[in-house]
Amino acid sequence: MRKSLVGYLPELQKACVRLKILISAGPTRELMDPVRYISNRSSGKMGYALAEAAMTQGHQVKLISGPVHLLPPKGVKMELVETAQEMRCAILKDSKNMDLMIMTAAVADYQPLKMSRHKIKKGVQQWTLKLKKTPDILAELGRIKTSEQLLIGFAAETERLLRNAKEKLIFKNLDFIVANRVGVGVGFDSDYNQVWILSRNGKIFKFARMTKRKLAQRLIAFWTPYAASRKV
Ligand code: C5P
Repeated sequence: MRKSLVGYLPELQKACVRLKILISAGPTRELMDPVRYISNRSSGKMGYALAEAAMTQGHQVKLISGPVHLLPPKGVKMELVETAQEMRCAILKDSKNMDLMIMTAAVADYQPLKMSRHKIKKGVQQWTLKLKKTPDILAELGRIKTSEQLLIGFAAETERLLRNAKEKLIFKNLDFIVANRVGVGVGFDSDYNQVWILSRNGKIFKFARMTKRKLAQRLIAFWTPYAASRKV
């Protein structure tokens, strides 16, 4: 009985409310020179699955993606970016009109202090690359979001998962944060994920391990009533 109701959920959502949803996905690449970069192992699968699920549930979706090997979900407006700076510009440009913003992108934390215009030649045995922090896009959204907008962040951690996630939720002024462990069979590059959602008022919702596509359907259905209740 429960299973069949869940099956109808996308259809029920579709009839109720149409939200404008902004999603970021994938890694960013921070260029050292025209051929080399710093990046991370994010596959973009969670963000793309969320974009697809949001479309299926009848919402209007914009996906801003770093470089990944995935096909764009059908019917989703997309913008491809490479660096954290480019992702920031794309997100800020679109953020004003959104009801729900879900930032799954694994934005690189540091970028080279300078990008060399030409390919850096190898020579010495050791050299030091100077890095500077990238802009924290999510924290910036947390500062400028209106009371009608719902803002969601992701925290991928290898240790002290819930404690770290809670700190980010508060520090970045989010409404919810999704905490997921990075490890064998879940998280980066996997088709599966197992997450907790932490809310601002201290509630914790545990989701079982499942495919990212199934989880995405559940997460969009979870946030829709919260975002809808804020929509003016
Ligand atoms: O601080 P940390 O990188 O762990 O936070 C993860 C969350 O912050 C994700 O939602 C990610 O998209 C966002 N983030 C960001 N800009 C950064 C770093 C992370 O928007 N420079």
